[in-house]
Amino acid sequence: MTERVRVTETLDIDLDAGRWTCNRCGHDVGDAEQSYKEGLLVAERDPEEVHPRRAPEDSAYSFAPDPEWCRVLEFYCPGCAVLVEVEYLPPGHPITRDLVFDLTSLRAAAAR
Ligand SMILES: [Zn+2]
Repeated sequence: MTERVRVTETLDIDLDAGRWTCNRCGHDVGDAEQSYKEGLLVAERDPEEVHPRRAPEDSAYSFAPDPEWCRVLEFYCPGCAVLVEVEYLPPGHPITRDLVFDLTSLRAAAAR
């Protein structure tokens, strides 16, 4: 039996295999020593599409992030298309690595 640890609402780590796994469909998302985002589908969205205008068209303000200064990246599981993560970054900024685990310690904690 494989030992899985829940990491986020949609991601587990399979401790035996050392792999990220979608906990909705079981899709192998990639090496748990690397960023899970490398194993996901990514969609770049227009901030004004994600945050519809809340002010009149002639207003200087829309309450949406300025697309010149912000991009919205959505990460989806290739197996079941569940939304795993959303990231707001300045254009040109590399995708962040937000989860890093010591798998040896996780395995030791799971064995207790
Ligand atoms: Zn999935």
